[in-house]
Amino acid sequence: MRPHAPRNTGQSLEDRLSAMDGGPYPAYRDLRGSFAIGPGVAIEFLHVQPDPYAPPSRLRARLDREWTGVPVPGPTTRHERVAIEDFLARALHRALAARDAEEARRSVRIDPPAQQILERSALTVRDGEVEVLLEVDLPARGRRIEGRRAARVLAHELPRILERSIGRGAVDSSALCSHVRAMDDYRALRGIVSDRGWIAFAADGSRIARRSGDDDAPLEQGSVPLVAPEGLAAFVDLPHAGRVRGLAIPRGITLLCGGGFHGKSTLLRSLGAAVYPHVPGDGRERIASDPTTLGARAEDGRAVTAVDLRPFLHDLPGGVDPAAFSTANASGATSQAAAIIEAMAMGCRVLLIDEDTSATNFLLRDRWMADLLRWEQEPITPLLSRMREMLEHAEVSTVLVVGGSGEAFRVADRALLMDAYHPLDATARVAGIRLHMGESSAVAPARWPSHERTIPLDARPWDGARVRALGPRRLLVGDAELDLGASGALVHPSQARTLATILQAWLRQAARPGGAGGLRLPDAPRDAARRIAAEGPLAFAPHPRGDLAEVREQEIAMLANRLRVRESTRR
Ligand code: ADP
Ligand code: MG
Repeated sequence: MRPHAPRNTGQSLEDRLSAMDGGPYPAYRDLRGSFAIGPGVAIEFLHVQPDPYAPPSRLRARLDREWTGVPVPGPTTRHERVAIEDFLARALHRALAARDAEEARRSVRIDPPAQQILERSALTVRDGEVEVLLEVDLPARGRRIEGRRAARVLAHELPRILERSIGRGAVDSSALCSHVRAMDDYRALRGIVSDRGWIAFAADGSRIARRSGDDDAPLEQGSVPLVAPEGLAAFVDLPHAGRVRGLAIPRGITLLCGGGFHGKSTLLRSLGAAVYPHVPGDGRERIASDPTTLGARAEDGRAVTAVDLRPFLHDLPGGVDPAAFSTANASGATSQAAAIIEAMAMGCRVLLIDEDTSATNFLLRDRWMADLLRWEQEPITPLLSRMREMLEHAEVSTVLVVGGSGEAFRVADRALLMDAYHPLDATARVAGIRLHMGESSAVAPARWPSHERTIPLDARPWDGARVRALGPRRLLVGDAELDLGASGALVHPSQARTLATILQAWLRQAARPGGAGGLRLPDAPRDAARRIAAEGPLAFAPHPRGDLAEVREQEIAMLANRLRVRESTRR
């Protein structure tokens, strides 16, 4: 450990702030440059708010690497680095939120963590230093600078909180080690899932129930741990957890059946979230799913732009062309059909579909209804009639939650029956029932569309419009809300903010002369995702900020696909 530095290392910042006390608030803007606030700790004002009610100021803290608790030798892979960063950012978040954080607790913030381990811009481990991006409300008395308080918070409390949370000696190295191991085991599990031809694996003992619909923390009381039924159980060997038994879901069509309230949707959602690693103690640490897994559901009212829906729609009334289907206000069925074609265009290999959030007429049509409706009267070919083809032609597996209709028995490769949160293997029973079901009406094979298309993007209607996140799954674009909740893999508001930075970058591009060519799919989302993977969540941000997180190409494409192309820009 280095000796503690003399108290006056923060002198210059402290002096500056104290001298400003009582001055007009905008004078805070003179705080340019970098200030040492302790041995091995410097802060820099990246943005200073013009008045006390404006969005907060942004600070960058730079810590000498050996001053921090980053283990030596440092991370050797990106994943290890992300796990260490996530761990340190959590420790600092806890310290800033703690009671004894006094004034800093009210005025200094770091992006709060989620249950997942994500690459976030809040804290970055580099070769020689650790960079922390913070938000701060610079204190005011009315519209005057409260300089002495600012000095207390920034020059005294902040370095102490940094040292006590992520300083060398403060970091709980065994907890940090478990964090990195959880990430390691997750990565290994994801590799095994792919190598063994599965779409997901969920270890026995996983606790998937959540506290509530809007609280992703684990349910504490009465959570029933998962146990795989014999027929669908497999063993995997993980680098740290060792040999683990669990539920292995192979590629194909898998049904999650069961009565209402028996845990079907919860299991499906846990597969959607398992595209990310979870923190130790979450209950979902040993669940991994195919990284392209995506939810698709009915989203009435969403915009659809030039999607070839012919696999699901034909002979639409009014001469509407299903080959380039556009609408500003989709129905349940057309929105869900579009979501599936769009997902396939991005190379999605696993679709998660829940009857709770599906359009029934899109999911299925039973033989009685088929008898009533002639082909020309029913323009929809239901999903159940296409699931086998989707698997055979595009290698898209489906996990489908059903409780109301047995039509899906005709096409299922396997079925789980959820019984009071316990999955049972119902594959043989479903096959037995299928023998008595009789033939379903035959459907001509689909012509699967080419995946390339262009979404016209004209910056003018959005000129100057703000794009901001309204939560983990919703964006405000100008005055229109864009809901990305169907994905199942947007778990943190910082991901929605990253999506906003991507959209803003696209709009800036479109506003340049000759830039209005539109968004090419699948390239535009894919390129954006590659940049995020290579450069980190700040790749599209015009300035450093600590409230961004990694996103997948699937969600970037969802954003592109749901943009409302204004009338003036329609071709
Ligand atoms: P379904 O989709 O079958 O109707 P849900 O998945 O919505 O059922 O679950 C119903 C309720 O049971 C929810 O409140 C959920 O949190 C809870 N639940 C689900 N799985 C478990 C579990 N393994 N242990 C405890 N509670 C659970
Ligand atoms: Mg349900």
